[in-house]
Amino acid sequence: MSHNDFIYADNAATTAVLPAVADAMLPFFTEIYGNASSPYEIGRRAKSALENARAEIAHCFGCDAAEIFFTSGGTESNNWAIQSIMKQKSKESKTHIITSQIEHHSILRVCQEWEKEGGTVTYLPVDKNGLVNPADVEKSIRGNTALVSIMAANNEIGTLQPLQEIGGICRSHNVLFHTDAVQAVGHLPINPHDIPVDLFSFSAHKFHGPKGIGGLYVNRSVNLPPLLFGGEQERAKRPGTQNVAAAVGLSTALSLACQEMTERNEKIRKLRDLLIENVLKIPGSSLNGDPNQRLPGNANFCFEGIEGESLLLMMDMHNIYCSSGSACTSGATDPSHVILALGVPKDLARSSVRISLSHLNTEEDVRQIISVLEEAISRLRRLRP
Ligand SMILES: *Cc1c(COP(=O)(O)O)cnc(C)c1O
Repeated sequence: MSHNDFIYADNAATTAVLPAVADAMLPFFTEIYGNASSPYEIGRRAKSALENARAEIAHCFGCDAAEIFFTSGGTESNNWAIQSIMKQKSKESKTHIITSQIEHHSILRVCQEWEKEGGTVTYLPVDKNGLVNPADVEKSIRGNTALVSIMAANNEIGTLQPLQEIGGICRSHNVLFHTDAVQAVGHLPINPHDIPVDLFSFSAHKFHGPKGIGGLYVNRSVNLPPLLFGGEQERAKRPGTQNVAAAVGLSTALSLACQEMTERNEKIRKLRDLLIENVLKIPGSSLNGDPNQRLPGNANFCFEGIEGESLLLMMDMHNIYCSSGSACTSGATDPSHVILALGVPKDLARSSVRISLSHLNTEEDVRQIISVLEEAISRLRRLRP
């Protein structure tokens, strides 16, 4: 990005808000700032913008507007889906959840809380590429299984799960299926008519929209109880004054992402493949995640004998921003639970670095990343005691 003095390669953590998205949001701060529940002109205009945003989002997913609920983001959507379904299903003595070992913490921590309350959770293992085996899902379903929650795309290694097969198994056993689609929405087509899914979570800031807004798709056939109680907003399922500007930002970003998906992905894949091809020439390097079933912009590597955190610092000194494992856990020196689940030994897992690209990156960015990585790794290896 020539207008910046840094290279941003951490798009799995968050993305830049596109100027067109910010422009669409602006009037709702300073002109049309009415409460969407208020009956007068600027309230009605806010309400209509909110409902247009919902309709536009539904159009991108090929679902009904009534199936889209606005939330504060991916974390809230995941919490809402799991907590509310379990509260409802436990009344029928269905207290078992099936998930995977490589979920985002906003799924894993909720499941751990559920265990503390006396529920049971199966954390499915993944293969060396990070794939859940659908047969494992089927084998784990019991009479008291209420919910299967398996992510669409992993935030660290980019592996895409076989949602079609997993969803089909859930349908045939009459078990609800939720997917954390935060990394997939806006990057790959997600359509609840093609994938047998009952609920999915998404978040605007992962596809060039604003932070602090996301949504939950809830299939018409599911009567999801609320997580929060208060006003009548979002049909009393998610009370609180709606963030109209952010909802407009979300829908604008999603529409652009859907319209431009093919072109963006063609560019991003080319850049990512250039990156992977060259980084794998570095001695002692390896790619984490599935070589084919992965997000277009994700590359995640291990480097023998390297501390990922030190490598990040050296990249930072060259104004290149990337991540070691998940941004939410950085600071902690523990190796990533995702990389460990692949069967990577602890020491090697500590060396993992994630480089996540967007369509705003250039070939020049990638060449710069490769050259700085090469240099930083050989320096760190020379410095080794
Ligand atoms: C970022 C992310 C979340 C959390 O979304 P927020 O909107 O930041 O709360 C959840 N799941 C995955 C896979 C993510 O990448």
